[in-house]
Formats: sequence, structure tokens, C-alpha cells
Amino acid sequence: MHHGIKKLLLLGAGHAHVHVLASLAQHRPADLDVTVLTPYAYQTYSGMTPGYVAGHYTEADCRIELEPLVRAAAARWVQGRCTGIDPVGNTVSVAAAGGAQGVPATLGFDALSIDTGAVIDRARLEADMPGAATHALAVRPIEAFAQLWPQVLALAQQKPVSLAVVGAGAAGIELIFAAEQGIRQQGMPGARFTLITGGPEVADNYRSSVQRKVLRQLKQRGITVLRETCVGIGAGEVMLGNGARLACDVPLLAIGTHAPPWLQGSGLALSASGQVLVNAFQQSTSHPHVFAAGDVASRADGPHARSGVYAVRAGPPLAHNLLAFHQRKPLKPHQPPTNTLNLLSCGTGHAIASYGPLSLEGAWAWRWKDRIDRGFIERYRLNPTPRKPGAGPGAQASGEPVS
Ligand SMILES: Cc1cc2nc3c(=O)[nH]c(=O)nc-3n(C[C@H](O)[C@H](O)[C@H](O)COP(=O)(O)OP(=O)(O)OC[C@H]3O[C@@H](n4cnc5c(N)ncnc54)[C@H](O)[C@@H]3O)c2cc1C
Repeated sequence: MHHGIKKLLLLGAGHAHVHVLASLAQHRPADLDVTVLTPYAYQTYSGMTPGYVAGHYTEADCRIELEPLVRAAAARWVQGRCTGIDPVGNTVSVAAAGGAQGVPATLGFDALSIDTGAVIDRARLEADMPGAATHALAVRPIEAFAQLWPQVLALAQQKPVSLAVVGAGAAGIELIFAAEQGIRQQGMPGARFTLITGGPEVADNYRSSVQRKVLRQLKQRGITVLRETCVGIGAGEVMLGNGARLACDVPLLAIGTHAPPWLQGSGLALSASGQVLVNAFQQSTSHPHVFAAGDVASRADGPHARSGVYAVRAGPPLAHNLLAFHQRKPLKPHQPPTNTLNLLSCGTGHAIASYGPLSLEGAWAWRWKDRIDRGFIERYRLNPTPRKPGAGPGAQASGEPVS
């Protein structure tokens, strides 16, 4: 008998936590009570979202349904959002989501794991870009964006739209290519597409060889690039830093995201940009019973890029360490990879692959990305048939979770 924790609370069902749930479905100690607090009944996979916009996938193709995973892990799902953490009193403040009834105002925990991703902080957004919160469509939360995209398509079927993506990092680049492809195939002819970079060159965080390939693809597709900041968004227009106004029916925000504002004042040690500071065990450097992974976390031993790849890689060590913490066993350090494969899709079944200094492009790269992305979703698709009476928590898993 150990005297370990009893209540494990998982905040968010991001890339790392779906793996934690799949692991718990395989093995959950009987004395561990697991609750998941997350606002949606599914997780929309961002890696496939540009493919959905381009028309390659349906919305359902991009979803990981959480209910079967939660049930297989014998966990409890609370449909809500965390609005504050007290890591001394061991409680989380909760706001109900999706019209859920009977959601408790607080949830207690013995150990907490945070994988809530990055957010677009509306207060900061409004200060930087007045009007954006009212007139623009933000890519996050991605579930809301995916639900609203059909309205953009419907508009594009009524008139030749002007669509602008604000933000020219990986997400913004993929989205402008995808929107151009999706609307060209399904919308009225004559639509115009603009990528607003915020000042720097497109893809300025990539090597120049990748940048050149992206610029060539943008040119081939007739997408205008404006190396300007967006300083405001009004009805039907985007205001630029140089004083110009761009007529725009659909402004899409794919700007850099922030740490959730509710971490401020929690008492947890945070990085300079507000993410939960964690050690090599993905464990808070200030509160050892709090773990974090994905875009909401920052490694104290050297921050890495915030991307889905790193969040996915953190899943298995996080799952291991949460169980080890419960069982008072030694935790295992997680070494994030130095280089990761990056596949940028260009909308038309063409992608640019890069790894370290190498970069190549072609239809084969898109097919590779398609295989990887579909494979990721498949790993977490469990058979939603009801559990047999008396069956263990892992009885529903139809596929092996990733290791
Ligand atoms: C269009 C687009 C395409 C992208 N493509 C790629 C790609 O191809 N490869 C790549 O590596 N990265 C990609 N990214 C980046 C990637 O999406 C993020 O880095 C990744 O989602 C981070 O994963 P995460 O687990 O930290 O959080 P997320 O995947 O954002 O998951 C967060 C979870 O927490 C829940 N949540 C949010 N707030 C709360 C709250 N307050 N309380 C409780 N739950 C909450 C959410 O509903 C969700 O379940 C892309 C991003 C975008 C926008």
C-alpha cells in the first residue's frame, strides 16, 4: 500500500493528454480517480485543419472524440474551462462550457496536469488590433474556427470574397494556401487572397531555402503578400500600419498565441511569456504536484518551439510520470528532440518538407503528411461501444495507443 495521490485532474485534452488518457485506458490504478476538465467533447486536430479548409477532409476526419477515450480510461469528464488555479489549496476554478449543467465551481486535486494549449488573449488582441475581437475570425479555439468555416464558404459562394490571413507563421501560411484552394474549388471565381505578415518576410522563422519555396508557391497561386502590421480591423476592412486600408470580407487571425491569462497570479512559477515553467519531468519547478505539457508549458532547461510535434512527444513521458508520481516511483526525464520534421502543406496536395538544414517539396510530401496526420487521429479512435459489465477500464480500446 502506498499513500500516493488519489485525485488526478487533467486540464484540457490537448495532444499530450489524449495520450495520457489512452495510457490510462491500458492501465489505471484502482485507487486513482481521474477527472478531465475540457470544454469540447472532441479535440480538433490542428495539423489537419488546413486540409479541412482546403476541402481534403471533413470536420469529422479531423476530430478525436474524447468520450470513448475518457470512458476507456474510467475517468470523469467535466465540460468546462479552467479559469484559475490554486496550487496550494489544490483547487481549480471552473466555468461551465457548451451549456453544460451542474458543473461544479471548483474541482479539487492531489495532482494536476495542464495541457490547455495556447490562447489568443482577447484583451491583448483588442489593444494591438482594435476591432479584431468583433470583426475577425480567429483560428483559436480551433474547434470554434472549424465550426464557423462553412459560413465563410457559404459567403464565398454568394460573391467573390476578399480573404486575408493575418500572421505568416506556419499556421498562417498553411491557412492562406488552404483557403485559396478551398474557395477556388467551391466559391465564386474572382476571390482575392492576402497574407499579412506583421512586418517581416513570410516564414521568417524558417531557413531561407524553405522561405524561398513558400514564396514561390504563394506567387504561383496569386496570393498577395503584405509585409505590414495589421493595426485594426473594421467591418469589411483591415487597417495597416502604413495607413492603408485593405477591403476584406474575411479577416482570419493566425497571429502568435499567448499563455492563458488565468495562469498569472496562480503562484505557479512561469516563464517570461507566462507559460508554466517545468523541469525535465514536465513537472512545475515551483509545485511538484503540478505537471504541464504542450504550448502551455515552457522547459526551464531550454525552451523549445511551441508546436504540436513537441506536445505529442511529451505525451508518453507525461503519462509515465503522472503514474510514477502517484506510485511514488522515480520520474523519467523527457528529452525533447532537437530537430523535428516539419511539413508545410500548400493546399493543393503539395507540401514542403524540412528537417534541420534539409528541405524538399512535392506531392509525395503532402501524401506523407496526410499519412502521419491520419495515423495520429487513428491511434486515439476507440470503439465507442458500451463497456461490458465488470470489464476493466481498458476493455474498449480497439487500437494500441502510441508508445
Ligand atoms: C491551423 C494550425 C495548424 C497547425 N499545424 C501544425 C502542424 O502541422 N504541426 C505542428 O506541430 N503544429 C501545428 N500547429 C500548432 C499546434 O496546433 C499547437 O502547437 C498544438 O495544438 C499545441 O498542442 P497542445 O496540446 O499544447 O494544446 P491544444 O492542442 O491547443 O489543446 C488544448 C486543449 O485544452 C482545452 N482547453 C483550452 N483552454 C482550456 C481551459 N481554460 N480549461 C480546460 N481546457 C481548456 C482545449 O479545448 C483543448 O482540448 C498548428 C496550429 C494551427 C493553428
